[in-house]
Amino acid sequence: MPKAEFERLNQMALQRGEPFKVLIVDDEKWVRETFKDFCELTSAFDVEMAFSGAEAIDKVRLNKYDLITVDLIMPELSGLDVLSEIKRVSPQVPVMIITGNATEKLINQAGLMGACRVLYKPVVLETFISEIASTLIK
Ligand SMILES: [Mg+2]
Repeated sequence: MPKAEFERLNQMALQRGEPFKVLIVDDEKWVRETFKDFCELTSAFDVEMAFSGAEAIDKVRLNKYDLITVDLIMPELSGLDVLSEIKRVSPQVPVMIITGNATEKLINQAGLMGACRVLYKPVVLETFISEIASTLIK
C-alpha cells in the first residue's frame, strides 16, 4: 500500500477543504471500477466515471475536475477526441492517458495534445496512486 502518498493526498484534500474531483473515462466497466476502488481507499477523492467519449465530454462541459484519466481506445469517440475537448473547455486540467494497446503514434499524439502522462495497463495500485499524487502535488 502506498501509505505515504495516501496520507499526503488526504492532507492536501483537508487543507483545500474538499476532495480532489477525479473523472475516470474508460469503456471497460472493470477498469473504471478498479480505478474507482483505488481512489476510494482514501477520502482524498471524489470520483466520477464515464463509459464513453460522449459521456466524458458531457461531464467535462458541466463540471470542474482536478484530474481526468482517459482511455485511448474506445468505440465511437476516442480518447484523443475526449482529450481535445478537455483541452478546449478546461485547458489547465491534467489529463492522464491510461492505455492497453495504443500505438506509439497515438500515444505521441496524446502527448502533443497536452496529456500530462501515460500509464500502461494493467495499472497496479501503487503506480496509479503515485502517478496521481505526483500530478496533483506540484
Ligand atoms: Mg478501451
